[in-house]
Amino acid sequence: MPSLTRAEATARRALITVVSYEVDLDLTGGGDRFGSTVTIRFRATPGTATFVEVKPAALRGVRLNDRDLDPGTLTENRLPLAGLAGQNTLTVSAEMAYSNTGEGMHRFVDPADGETYLYAMSFLDDVQRIFAAFDQPDLKAPVTLSVTAPPQWTVAANGQLAARPRPGRWEFATTPPLATYLVSLIAGPWHVRRDSHDGIPLAVYCRRSLAAHLDADLDEVFTVTKQCLDRFHQLFAERYPFAKYDQAFVPEFNAGAMENPGLVTLRDDYVFRSAVTDTQRELRATTIAHEMAHMWFGDLVTMRWWDDLWLNESFAEYLGTRVAAEATRFDRAWTTFAIRRKAWGYTADQRPSTHPVAPEEVADAAQGLLNFDGISYAKGASVLRQLVAWLGDDAFLAGLNAHFAAHRFGNATLADLLAALGAASGRDLSGWAERWLRQAQVNTLRMETAVAADGCWTAVAVTQTAPTSHPVLRPHRIAVGRYAADGTVTRVELDLDPDTDRGRTEVRALVGQPATGLLLPNDGDLTFAKIRLDPASADAVPTVLPGLADPLARALLWGEALDAARDGERPVPALVSLIAAALPAETEVVIAEEVLGLSLASSTATSTRSPATPPCCGSPGRAPTCSPEHRPAVRRNSPPPGA
Ligand SMILES: [Zn+2]
Repeated sequence: MPSLTRAEATARRALITVVSYEVDLDLTGGGDRFGSTVTIRFRATPGTATFVEVKPAALRGVRLNDRDLDPGTLTENRLPLAGLAGQNTLTVSAEMAYSNTGEGMHRFVDPADGETYLYAMSFLDDVQRIFAAFDQPDLKAPVTLSVTAPPQWTVAANGQLAARPRPGRWEFATTPPLATYLVSLIAGPWHVRRDSHDGIPLAVYCRRSLAAHLDADLDEVFTVTKQCLDRFHQLFAERYPFAKYDQAFVPEFNAGAMENPGLVTLRDDYVFRSAVTDTQRELRATTIAHEMAHMWFGDLVTMRWWDDLWLNESFAEYLGTRVAAEATRFDRAWTTFAIRRKAWGYTADQRPSTHPVAPEEVADAAQGLLNFDGISYAKGASVLRQLVAWLGDDAFLAGLNAHFAAHRFGNATLADLLAALGAASGRDLSGWAERWLRQAQVNTLRMETAVAADGCWTAVAVTQTAPTSHPVLRPHRIAVGRYAADGTVTRVELDLDPDTDRGRTEVRALVGQPATGLLLPNDGDLTFAKIRLDPASADAVPTVLPGLADPLARALLWGEALDAARDGERPVPALVSLIAAALPAETEVVIAEEVLGLSLASSTATSTRSPATPPCCGSPGRAPTCSPEHRPAVRRNSPPPGA
């Protein structure tokens, strides 16, 4: 099946504007097919031609304005539409096949009780398996959905339920304009729990056989959801832009979660059936916050084309982690991000297969998924965190809110966002964007010190280097932390500006000070860079680390030790003795997990020099805590779909 190309999308966008989708699905057939009828109203340049996408099991009828079209003209997934009028009405009736791959309309029979559950996954270009559509992110339109299904079932969709005209019939309110990849519904004997918050109706769904497990954990799911809503309402001028906020935990889900407006779908591994670590609970909370961030960044304002899919994910990753850390009991989310997610980003960025965070152009939809990796998610989110530090939080939020206001329920590009941030901060972001978003690989920040006979520093500096393969130095806004043996911490924030300091920046505030304590570059983890301690600080780690109160600082020190061993800059036995000396005192489960996981990978990497497998995918037993995109690619042999 051909994948829509960027050129085709641009051409079609210039020709048509979609006014509305009216979708009617018949889910009463017990077999492997369901009925689908859609009426699409769209404007077009009269006399022109285009095509609509659909992947039916059987095409039953096609009517364009007052003409019946021959269903036989369907070629692969494209139905040609010629002789368009200014105003058009297209109706396509078809039989569609249920899927068991997590794409399109997924059908699952619960082995626990034989019950059948359906859920729709339209991302990236799979709405075509549910109904005919102009399937590209910048042809957004309101969707009015109606469903016929067994009367004892429960059906939910993006829009609010508007009417139940008779048993077995559900009619949903028209949604605001949606991108086609965001259309979703669930149908089946779902267990549901309802609540509301700040005037927003909330619901949580799972299959009946998991009801007791969900109910046992319901309070945390709703509490995290409400806390995140409140925090987003503090950060964003625009209130939550959709009618309700449902979350459905669904089986055999091909991702961690999907940000369908009004009806987020999440893998039901997040309905814990047994005791789990707080790290797993935190991952669920950051996933809830991640999907909620998409309601604004992705759903309210949607990318124009898949070029900016990375931005969508990086933003949700950044905001999801930030809001979970700031608004829920999981205030260590940035520690998990530093030791687990960024490790994934650093590994991916140092591979020969590395690529810039922001690709120049994505030629077709299928290619859009190729960059769904540690660079798009983890590095991208970390680079955004750096941008916030570099611009200042007020300017960042002012720019972001202006961006939302300018493009609400529409589409926008990276350039639009950079323009809004530039206007709000009064800074030109083009140089920053070129170095951070268009150039691959990672810088190394190394502490350098010199001490006088009186024991005071005569020089303290941060040097920045880049690999010869990608010799790009970048502006970094960082902090240098000084961790004294008595537990006191002082922090100096500074700008590294390669254009003025040629990669060496003095930390003047420390010159002349007693050369005591451990100096930690990138303290607070504001930037995306490998770090190296000065020799005196590296020697102090085994004594300072066990008593360090701040888990994020501990995560950074462990990261430095692991990375230096992996790069062969420090002997592995030194790492082993550090683990023996300091890890028993480690209280953060995620740090202990990652240090053991990564050190294993590092020791094998050092011996075989192959890059480490991302920690969470190493051992399938931990699948539920595996990050959303590390799911097994059950899809047709294309790269894993997004979340
Ligand atoms: Zn996402």
